[in-house]
Amino acid sequence: MLILGIETSCDETGVALYDSERGLLADALFSQTDMHADYGGVVPELASRDHVQKLLPLCDEVLDRAVCTRSDITGIAYTAGPGLVGALMVGGSVAHALGLALDIPVLGVHHMEGHLLAPMLEDNPPGFPFVALLVSGGHTQLVKVSGIGEYELLGESVDDAAGEAFDKAAKMLGLDYPGGPRVAALAEQGREGVYRFPRPMTDRPGLEFSFSGLKTYTLNTVTAEQAADNWTEQTRADIALAFESAVVDTLVIKCRRALEAADCDRLVMAGGVSANRRLRAALETMAGKQGASVFYARPEFCTDNGAMIAYAGCQRLLAGQRDGDRIVAKPRWPMDTLPGLADECLD
Ligand code: ATP
Ligand code: MG
Ligand code: FE
Repeated sequence: MLILGIETSCDETGVALYDSERGLLADALFSQTDMHADYGGVVPELASRDHVQKLLPLCDEVLDRAVCTRSDITGIAYTAGPGLVGALMVGGSVAHALGLALDIPVLGVHHMEGHLLAPMLEDNPPGFPFVALLVSGGHTQLVKVSGIGEYELLGESVDDAAGEAFDKAAKMLGLDYPGGPRVAALAEQGREGVYRFPRPMTDRPGLEFSFSGLKTYTLNTVTAEQAADNWTEQTRADIALAFESAVVDTLVIKCRRALEAADCDRLVMAGGVSANRRLRAALETMAGKQGASVFYARPEFCTDNGAMIAYAGCQRLLAGQRDGDRIVAKPRWPMDTLPGLADECLD
């Protein structure tokens, strides 16, 4: 099957063509980050309008790059949730309109399943079962994955997601959105051991996370240093490193526990924060000691993209799953309610 994948859950328009035999043929992305920068966050109405303008040109772009035409497409996958409802509706509308026009099946895909399966697009993809660390702008979850659609939630954040914490820490340090890569870059100049930030919820058993206390700790440190007239470039870098180390250590401790609890020797990391180099290295070191392997996607497929949606949709479309004639848009959608590949798809 040749699948057109469409991602419009938030502020990135992502489109890709994935062929079940030949693999990924082309992908294209437009990020709205600059457009939302003036407002200090994503403005849902502006996001939807921009998806309307960018989506079809990006579809034509990937077809050109893959040297294909619309009539070569045999299935369409779009992000049906979770996300901003207006933004989701744009992707769903275009997917269903194209599906009707071309008389091909269409399927709404879960955005986090897309993230979760993105490492499958790399050489040497992980086999099942594995433990997945989903770390993105809106989610921090540990999931035992026994197959596509066979997801057991082991633990998640009780408050902020790790990516959200990175973005808020970045703001405190005077850095732009998205904060994760910018905090990581600033931390390169940081000195180890100047500050020691807490590792939340690691002193007790369990696989839950909490990042809001770390955020407050960061704010208090920033405020104290500014009041002490110690707000130098070096101070900011030292704080960035202390913050990043605290998040990385926390995630590593919980991943080790999850591998043990699930009795698993494969760890998959996915979502925007999985692009973090320090996190990748620390998880590799931990896994090495446990005799486990770590899998992740190339950096551009860690954050939102169309390729992950095309891939996830392709697996389900091949299994015969498809939407009815209604567009599916679910702003909230727990991943462990998804059907397995052998189950009938109900929307
Ligand atoms: P969700 O997928 O939960 O709906 P989202 O789509 O907004 O949320 P992603 O696109 O997966 O999230 O990831 C974006 C997040 O990843 C942002 O919070 C960003 O700061 C973070 N991020 C990206 N690169 C890095 C990095 N190198 N280090 C740390 N965080 C990063
Ligand atoms: Mg985004
Ligand atoms: Fe995402």
